[in-house]
Amino acid sequence: MTERARVIHNPTPVVTAALGRTMAAASIIGSALKKSGASLTVRINGGGPVGNIIVVSDDMGNVRGFVQNPTADAPKTTAGKLNVGGVVGTDGTLSVIKDFGEKEPYSGSTRLVSGEIAEDFTAYFAESEQIPSACAFGVLIDRDWSVLAAGGYIVQLLPGAPEGLIDAVEQNVEKTGAVTEILRSGNADALLKTVMAGLSPRVIERLNVEYKCTCTRERFLTAVLSLDKSELDDMRRKGEPVEVCCQFCESVFVYDISELLKNS
Ligand code: ZN
Repeated sequence: MTERARVIHNPTPVVTAALGRTMAAASIIGSALKKSGASLTVRINGGGPVGNIIVVSDDMGNVRGFVQNPTADAPKTTAGKLNVGGVVGTDGTLSVIKDFGEKEPYSGSTRLVSGEIAEDFTAYFAESEQIPSACAFGVLIDRDWSVLAAGGYIVQLLPGAPEGLIDAVEQNVEKTGAVTEILRSGNADALLKTVMAGLSPRVIERLNVEYKCTCTRERFLTAVLSLDKSELDDMRRKGEPVEVCCQFCESVFVYDISELLKNS
């Protein structure tokens, strides 16, 4: 999923990490919406060089996403890690919109903590949804900038869970360390085993997730036709083909003027 995003957008490694971590979070939260046709949109902007990060997940955890500046970069941290916080910044917000296709969508937003994504989601859950959570997301990148491993976890306490439980989870989180190291040699089950050690985890559902765009030629035509009348008239006068590019998958749709005239 993350490698597909990288191939589409061709970002720097640190931007791949920022986008990949956000995609992992959106996929996990999206897959928990539990309503067919529901969608989740995450928007992060911390005022850093990467600008907006936008990720959308469906209710099955399939995601699509893009960043404003794929070529943004930041020097590695002193520990030699990709400096995700450095490209994302901390002067801004993390917003989550849950659209269940009925009434107003639910939306919540919190100030960014570190721009490292996981800490920011932990803060979002605590402040916006009042759910104590432990989050970790990671992307491991190869020398040729391809994605070797990506993923993460969100552990949340159900209402009425004993007070001490979060401490047990936090100790496990501490022991687990970087998720990418576990995902590289193992898989999601290996991650589950360490994060939920001693808590008798039971797998209740498995989902195969992928990078999935929902754009269609018809959908973009509707968008083109909803432009201002003066803009449309301008296009007609010029007589040039109208080109629309999908930000999520970089598909290009070309419409000729006669097609526009025919449908408007
Ligand atoms: Zn698309």
